[in-house]
Amino acid sequence: MTAIVVVEDEPDIGDLLALYFRQEGWTVHVTDNGSDGLEAIRARRPDFIVLDVGLPGDIDGFDVCREVRRKSNTPILFLTARDDEIDRILGLEMGADDYVTKPFSPREIVARVKAIMRRGKDDPARSDICFDTILIDLDRHEVTVDDEPVALATQEWSLLAALAQHRGAVLSRQQLLDLAWGVDWIGDPRTVDVHVRQLRRKLGSDLPLVTVRGAGYRLG
Ligand code: CA
Repeated sequence: MTAIVVVEDEPDIGDLLALYFRQEGWTVHVTDNGSDGLEAIRARRPDFIVLDVGLPGDIDGFDVCREVRRKSNTPILFLTARDDEIDRILGLEMGADDYVTKPFSPREIVARVKAIMRRGKDDPARSDICFDTILIDLDRHEVTVDDEPVALATQEWSLLAALAQHRGAVLSRQQLLDLAWGVDWIGDPRTVDVHVRQLRRKLGSDLPLVTVRGAGYRLG
């Protein structure tokens, strides 16, 4: 049984999400502030967390996320009302799996939750990721096009692997730097663009590596 913790201080939104989630047969626990949210997450070990960014009190959604990420990879979907919050979700290495902006349709949230959980289930079992003629073998650090191995530089491979591991999700340049170069690496986010160009050149048009304007890149 899928268990979800929702941390959302607007009762209407919390109730609505709980209603839709329960219709899916999921167990839902709603809290309206960050410290109760953390407590519920600790006690219930949910399969999924829906987290409002703006919460009353000392602990906002970002704090909750950071705290959760110290110990677990439980998927987190952020709810956000403001553009500058989106910047922070994408810009910092928050470890969020996705976000939805308010106002939203509950159906959309249900669909996103399902998609993220599917992704999570696929990942450990399969180390091969396939796009048409391109096969990315994450375990063996190999990529082939039409069964022909393609030689990638170390950082090109790291970037491709980071994108493949988060396929379907938009990753900002900063997130990609953190994932592929490491959080200690200080450099120009445009480095990512240079390596993306290389990947596109080497792997060709079957690589579904999409530029998302103002946000970053998405594979798949
Ligand atoms: Ca709020």
